[in-house]
Amino acid sequence: MAEQRFLDGRVALVTGASRGIGYAVALEAARAGAHVIAVARTVGGLETLDDDIRKLGGSTTLVPLDLKDYAGIDRLGAAIFERWGRLDALVGNAGLLGPISPLGHIEPKSFDDVFAVNVTANWRLIRSLDPLFKRSDAARAVFVSSGASSSCKAYWGLYAASKAALEALVRSYAAETRNSAIRANLVNPGATRTKMRAQAMPGEDPATLPNPADIAPGIVRLLDPQFNETGRLYDAPRQRVLDFQPPA
Ligand code: NDP
Repeated sequence: MAEQRFLDGRVALVTGASRGIGYAVALEAARAGAHVIAVARTVGGLETLDDDIRKLGGSTTLVPLDLKDYAGIDRLGAAIFERWGRLDALVGNAGLLGPISPLGHIEPKSFDDVFAVNVTANWRLIRSLDPLFKRSDAARAVFVSSGASSSCKAYWGLYAASKAALEALVRSYAAETRNSAIRANLVNPGATRTKMRAQAMPGEDPATLPNPADIAPGIVRLLDPQFNETGRLYDAPRQRVLDFQPPA
């Protein structure tokens, strides 16, 4: 188990926990002592996570859910309230890359799907979970963005726009909650060896990239009740603040 169990007794929800960065973050949160509510569509991935967390002596609640099912997100909030009466931590990690393509060639359904998962689902999570955060003595929400949000490279427009929208959403939430016990931040994980990265950069040698397990501790660190910043974008793996602008 981790030397520092700074999430002991706390309840943490991680989206996109079936593989990649979310899987490693869920495992790391459990190692720090949290009970992990793990959300994704792929049941096999969630079950493997459950096995790995049990091996650490930790515990999970598996939630097979398509985050485009917004009513399902509302039901999840209600179920967490019934069982724990509060939520202490959220990692809004699930994401969709969508087509890397000229904007004029993107099918409307692809555009809608990327915004549904990367933006609307995270807003629906905030909407459903905000009352539960308010019942925690130190709620910590972290959302996973990308360097793409500001680089605005050709053909990355859809993904970039969705992550820029996510950043605006989370900074606004941070501003709304800054006088409460809620802290909301963003993290850019940087290039990481996952299925999404391989899809984005098929010619790249994955061996040159960090593993999700290498970067997860830097993300989970932002869930520490002692961590007091809000409205910031972090380069968590390298422990750098990318943006020093506090929310208004
Ligand atoms: P993966 O594609 O490996 O994992 C994505 C996760 O999101 C999976 O667990 C997937 O679960 C989940 N997910 C996707 N769509 C849905 C949905 N509709 N409902 C529920 N869960 C969903 O990606 P990464 O681990 O690489 O990415 C994690 C985050 O990091 C993303 O937000 C991504 O944008 C961001 N990021 C990644 C970088 C990288 O280099 N890897 C760089 C910068 C940012 P399932 O399919 O089982 O539903």
